[in-house]
Amino acid sequence: MTAPRESSIDVRRGGVALADRWPLLRQPGTLVLYLCGTVGLAVAAGVWLARATPFRWEDVLTFLALMGCGAVCIEATRRLGLPAGVSRDLLSAWWLPVALLLPPVYALLAPLPLQFLLQVRVKPTVVYRRVFSAAAIGLAAVAASLCFHGMGRGPGHLGTATLLLAVACAVLFTVLNTALVAAAAVLSDPDTRLRDVLWDRERVLLDVVELCLGVLVAIVCGISPLLLVLTLPPVVLLQRSLLHAQLKAAARTDAKTGLLNATAWQREADTEIVRARRTGETLALLIVDIDHFKRVNDNHGHLIGDQVLAGVATAVRSQLRDYDVVGRFGGEEFVVLLPRADVAEARRVAERLRGRVGRMAIPVEEALITVTISVGVAILSVHGDDLIELLAAADLALYRAKELGRDRICLPVAPVPPQRGREDNSQGGIP
Ligand code: GH3
Ligand code: MG
Ligand code: MG
Repeated sequence: MTAPRESSIDVRRGGVALADRWPLLRQPGTLVLYLCGTVGLAVAAGVWLARATPFRWEDVLTFLALMGCGAVCIEATRRLGLPAGVSRDLLSAWWLPVALLLPPVYALLAPLPLQFLLQVRVKPTVVYRRVFSAAAIGLAAVAASLCFHGMGRGPGHLGTATLLLAVACAVLFTVLNTALVAAAAVLSDPDTRLRDVLWDRERVLLDVVELCLGVLVAIVCGISPLLLVLTLPPVVLLQRSLLHAQLKAAARTDAKTGLLNATAWQREADTEIVRARRTGETLALLIVDIDHFKRVNDNHGHLIGDQVLAGVATAVRSQLRDYDVVGRFGGEEFVVLLPRADVAEARRVAERLRGRVGRMAIPVEEALITVTISVGVAILSVHGDDLIELLAAADLALYRAKELGRDRICLPVAPVPPQRGREDNSQGGIP
């Protein structure tokens, strides 16, 4: 074992300290370029638009009234808290009217005070994300605003054509903002599936709600900013119920992997088992455990260990059907319930998981981390009749898989006759 040279330790220490202070520096180079480019573009657009915009008190007051409503909305939902990870809000209800009613420079400014308020009053997060969010929303809103005003429409022309144009510009705002954020998600993690970022029924439904709210608030505010007091209560109520739904979903989810947490998994697994017993269908349960995971932590640290954990979770999820129930049971163990799977199908799925995880290579510090998994399999009515019995049986099987050398799949019973060419090979097998 070679020890790192003194100078390299210093360099790395310096690097870590700098990266600790500037989390942006820990991101891939292309992502850093993209984020800086987006923010730079927003700043340049801001300077250019500010020069081209005549100052009018009327615009400033309308802007302040809409920002005030946004601030009230944030304060009114602040105590509910925010779920971990990405969460949604209905703040477009306030910055869309800014884009439609005021000169484009205000559209660029609007996200700044509200993102600042979110950061200091609701949920502090890494600053570069807030800055990028503000720039992405601002640029999308500027494009919508330029389009709307470019067509010669303004708050003064309230007619069907103007309303249709407002809706089209609101769609443009949503599409551009989603595209800018999706590009950042893909650059930060190339394994991100674009479909997951762009197309999600809940997400699209929320986009439509935001769009409708934004256009309605714009119409009301266009008549008189004083009427905004009538729009505030319904928007606050919608925002609160949205947060409530998100918090409920988050309570079922394991934050590190995005899978169901143990409690939610057990609840769903219980329901599936009762259903399978009633209908007489087959069902299988797998316990998946990462082999020698402690070594990953010991060699690369817990943060990298967490990335590996999330990578394995994603790989496992990607190999399963939509109605399979998969959760993180704790530590580096996952549980999978396969409705309608018999022994052969359960083995096939387990083998697919083992193969997929074994082929996975996670790039870290110019090296690639690979891990293997061991899987314990139990079948309903063969190895147990309820969740507790199935879990105990699969756990025993997992124990056998570890005893036999890991990177393999086991059932709880005594070894069955060898499967052609699969037994005792170093790549794992199905005893
Ligand atoms: P085996 O092949 O026998 O399963 O060996 P193992 O090292 O995987 O199992 P062991 O039970 O000895 O260690 C499990 C390790 O998983 C120890 C613990 O530090 C790590 N671990 C548990 N939860 C997490 C987590 O959330 N993040 C990280 N990075 N590590 C975790
Ligand atoms: Mg393990
Ligand atoms: Mg374990």
